This record gives sequence, structure tokens and C-alpha cells, in this order.
Amino acid sequence: MLEIRWHGRGGQGAVTAAEILATSAILEGGYAQAFAAFGPERRGAPVQAFTRISENEILTRCQIYEPDVVVVLDKNLCTMEGVSDGLKPGGTAVLNTDRGAKNFSETFKGTGAIAAVNATKIAMEELGAPITNTAILGALVRVLGIVKLETVESIMKERFKQYAEKNINAVRRAFQETEIFEPDGKKGERTEESSERRALKCFTPQLKGWREIPEGGTITEPGSSVNFDVTAWRTSTPVIDQKKCTKCGMCFLFCPDSAIELDVYGNYGVNLSYCKGCGICAKGCAVKAITMVKEAN
Ligand code: SF4
Ligand code: SF4
Repeated sequence: MLEIRWHGRGGQGAVTAAEILATSAILEGGYAQAFAAFGPERRGAPVQAFTRISENEILTRCQIYEPDVVVVLDKNLCTMEGVSDGLKPGGTAVLNTDRGAKNFSETFKGTGAIAAVNATKIAMEELGAPITNTAILGALVRVLGIVKLETVESIMKERFKQYAEKNINAVRRAFQETEIFEPDGKKGERTEESSERRALKCFTPQLKGWREIPEGGTITEPGSSVNFDVTAWRTSTPVIDQKKCTKCGMCFLFCPDSAIELDVYGNYGVNLSYCKGCGICAKGCAVKAITMVKEAN
């Protein structure tokens, strides 16, 4: 059985990609399952999805703690604590990055293969949005070779309808542009140190299941969002025209990520480490002092 764990953010389509891969495997005669584990359910929040593929009926229903493959859809999650946890000896990491596969050999120490593709760039160019799921799927199909690209494309045609062509372009491009690095060319080797680390952490998933989360998703560690960089998701930046701004403070109240800050002179500004570019502040500004400016890729 092949077990794949997907790491992304809400809105990047990790669950859809997990389902497309599972459906492809079923169409090609195998057994498969796909499901998700959500943390706080909002756009930009970390999400995990899981795919199991087998030649035989799959009876296991639990989350995947020791995957054969880890897929990372968000650039900022590639080196995040917990993403490589439990990855089996000689396993595979498929990463959305513009830094090249070799640069992740420390993070994914002992991995059999690291596949890297700039899925954000491909998604922006082909879809016009950082929805990286179909691009990363192209990389996964290339490195694993477990299902045919044509099968994946046929499911996309059915699922995405008028958006199918763009997504198929993304998957094809990623398939071509994926770089694969095999550390030392020796598949399957892991160091003692990494095995020990895995043994300690493989039962600690990065995201908690719904049974483990306090009722109502209560935040038990105040201020913990400061630890998370959501900038990879942003495609537009809010720019405040200080001449138009009346200092009403509504953008400060509206921003769901507390990214609007007040400086010592009483001017409102945007902290780009936490702004995800949702545009709510611009919509809510009565005097239209905020403009959303599209960012370069
Ligand atoms: S909502 Fe507009 S006018 Fe009010 S503080 Fe923000 S930018 Fe200034
Ligand atoms: S676009 Fe505006 S409302 Fe949205 S996260 Fe950024 S600062 Fe906050």
C-alpha cells in the first residue's frame, strides 16, 4: 500500500488533489481512499489531506502518520516542523519551491527522492491564482509513476469543466519542469539520527483531529498566529493612501489577521508578514483609501 500525506493551506486544493489521485488509481483498476483533516477552517489555514492506494481492498481508516510520500503545496510549509515527520525510509518528498530539490536534503534527510517544482509560479501563470494543487499533482505523477498523466487529465476535464484546460496546462507543465534529486543516488538510506527523530515524532501529527480540538476550536495559546507566515498565499497587497485616510480605524477592526497596525504617529499601515491579501480592509474603507495592488509572482 502506498500512503501519501498532503500539506497545504485552506484554498490551495490539497483535498481536491488527494481525491483526483485516488480517483485516478481507482480508474486504473486499484483501490484508493482520500480524506482530509482540517485545523481552523478558513482560507490560508494549514490543512492536511491523505491518499491511500493499494492493489487490494483498504480497510485502514485512520490518518497517515508514516507516509511513503509527503507532498507540500505551500512554499512556506516545506521546512515547517512536522511536515517530514514519520516519512518512511527511502520515502519521497514532493515540494512546491523555487529553491531547488537539493536544498531540502537536510530537512528531508534520508529521503529516497526529493522532487521540486515551482508550483506557485506555474499556478499564477496558468490559472492566475496561487492554487497549487494541480501543478503539484503533475510533479507527483512524474516522480511516482503510479498513475498515468492521461488518467489524471480525464478526471480534471470532468471535475473542472470550463477551468479544465488551464488546470491541465498546469499539470503538464509541472510534469515537465519537476526536478528530482536522489540524495547520494542511494534510495532507501536513512541515518540513525533521523530514524530516532522519526520514532519520537511519528505519532504526533502536525494538525490535531477534531476529537482533540477544544469545543468550538478555542485557541488555547493566545498570540500563536504570530508564529505563522501566510505570505505565500497573498497575490495582492493593500496600499493605504495616507492623504485620503481619515484614521477611522475600520480597516484595523475588519482585518481578520490583525495585519493592520497603527504607528506612533497615528498612521495605519499593513504588516505584510501577516497580511494574506484578502482585500477585506479595502472593501470596508468608506473613503476608498486602500487600493489592492497585484504582486509580481
Ligand atoms: S478604513 Fe480607510 S480611512 Fe479608515 S483607517 Fe483604514 S485606511 Fe484609513
Ligand atoms: S488584505 Fe487587508 S484585511 Fe486582508 S489580511 Fe491584508 S490587511 Fe488584513
